[in-house]
Amino acid sequence: MPYTGGCQCGRVRYEMDVLEYAHVCHCRMCQKATGGLFAALVGAPKDKFRWTATAPEDFWSSNLAKRAFCKECGTPLGFTYDLPDARQYVTIGSLDHPELAPVTHQFGLESKIPFVEFCEAIPGERTGDTTAVGEFLANMTSRQT
Ligand SMILES: [Zn+2]
Ligand SMILES: [Zn+2]
Repeated sequence: MPYTGGCQCGRVRYEMDVLEYAHVCHCRMCQKATGGLFAALVGAPKDKFRWTATAPEDFWSSNLAKRAFCKECGTPLGFTYDLPDARQYVTIGSLDHPELAPVTHQFGLESKIPFVEFCEAIPGERTGDTTAVGEFLANMTSRQT
């Protein structure tokens, strides 16, 4: 049985065969994109992920990544890099059963809001800590204002 989820109004729905790499991201772009203190995301390879109702709208938050949302209700739905082998991530809160995606990693610790105490025992890293990610993100042009 696939894992399912969707937006608040039900216009956009998705299903995914696996839940991989559940994480939170504290970066400023994820804070803005979700309106939350951090983004909580879980992914699947693109061939194991399907939009099953109306497809979402996308906001290209940078030249490298787009963030799916529903234009009717505004729910932030997902995130993916513009790469063929990139996972499609969805917001854990948009899953029908978010309890199935326990967070195992944190990113963007450089922007973590000081009063956020969340999963303190979970390993984390600052954006660009790993060389491959740093080189990839070096080419990013933000479209966030
Ligand atoms: Zn909606
Ligand atoms: Zn982020």
